[in-house]
Amino acid sequence: MPELDPLEELQQGLADLDAAGLRRHRRVVTTPCQPETRLAGRDSPVIAFCSNDYLGLAAEPAIAAALRAGSERWGSGAGASHLVSGHYAPHEALEARLAAFVGMDDALYFSTGYMANIGVMPALVGRGDAIFADRVNHASLVDGALLSRAELIRYAHCDLAALESRLQASRAPRKLIVTDGVFSMDGDIAPLREMLALAERHKAWLLVDDAHGFGVLGPQGRGCLAHFGIQSPRLIYMGTLGKAAGVTGAFVAGQREVIDWLLNRSRSYIFTTGAPPLIAEGLLAALDMIEQGDARRSHLLHLITRFKAALHLTRWQRLPSDTPIQPIVIGDNHEALAVSRALDEAGLWVPAIRPPTVPKGSARLRIVLSAAHTEAQVAHLVTTLMKLERRQP
Ligand SMILES: *Cc1c(COP(=O)(O)O)cnc(C)c1O
Repeated sequence: MPELDPLEELQQGLADLDAAGLRRHRRVVTTPCQPETRLAGRDSPVIAFCSNDYLGLAAEPAIAAALRAGSERWGSGAGASHLVSGHYAPHEALEARLAAFVGMDDALYFSTGYMANIGVMPALVGRGDAIFADRVNHASLVDGALLSRAELIRYAHCDLAALESRLQASRAPRKLIVTDGVFSMDGDIAPLREMLALAERHKAWLLVDDAHGFGVLGPQGRGCLAHFGIQSPRLIYMGTLGKAAGVTGAFVAGQREVIDWLLNRSRSYIFTTGAPPLIAEGLLAALDMIEQGDARRSHLLHLITRFKAALHLTRWQRLPSDTPIQPIVIGDNHEALAVSRALDEAGLWVPAIRPPTVPKGSARLRIVLSAAHTEAQVAHLVTTLMKLERRQP
């Protein structure tokens, strides 16, 4: 092998990404998170259908006020990790409220959902154990599995028979089933009731990542477990707090011993500075808004129903979803990009999601509806999509 110049190699890698329609770019937003969004270098605003701000709380004044009051009371930083001296009264109050809200014994606050997933899985299983994972699970669950060094066994998307036969075939002493509650790029909901039955039969943990269900699904937005009405000591629940909750962070909830074990063993919890206590104050206010958010949830549900009823496509495929995530599979990377650009010209912001975020050949528009959208905005999106499908490629 000839020796590579490392910088030239990266330049070539970026050029390859360009050629494959896979190079990523960021756009600079100059308004708070809201449907009518302004972008640097663009004269007119766009209507965004891409944030995960499902309830429209990311720019909610009551939460911003709680954050301001929190900074007055607590200053800016936690100063240390939670186990040293960075665990403050609002963190403790937040964990207690989150646990009660999702119907669990106890909860642990993590700085991000990514950190929660890469912290929980290696604490529960290790070399010689087995992790059973849905093939389209979020990347953070894949990374958590790799870090654990347990065998990673992936089953076809939501295929209960495949999961069962792999559980049956496994001789691993510890088994962990992991799944997105609501699949982040598909919008469908995992069959959790049946998965829990399998977990109980095979003495496995069932870790559910509810990044897209917390605040949205179930009574008062209590999440996907409440949506199905399931409870079990086998269940470990992970919810994120930067999406529907509109702030940042995540939590893991479960049996008291599980949470105590994570507190002792989860490296991404232990070896990082605690989130600023003001964040926990903001999240306590966000939790109030979620609990009292029935009007937001029913408006959101109304928009989802209208979108599905009005959108008629022939060539592109709208995936079956009852959640705010409404993907339209286009297939080809370049065509997906071209459609996303045409939507932009029409004043609509819908990014094209391409591999490796989604499987090869399934590039898609990931449309996300929010309680902050109006019916007119959704109607405009629907008509534009139908017009573009006829015009492209
Ligand atoms: C967004 C997301 C995460 C990561 O959560 P962050 O708090 O953004 O780090 C984890 N899992 C799923 C399914 C997600 O969609």
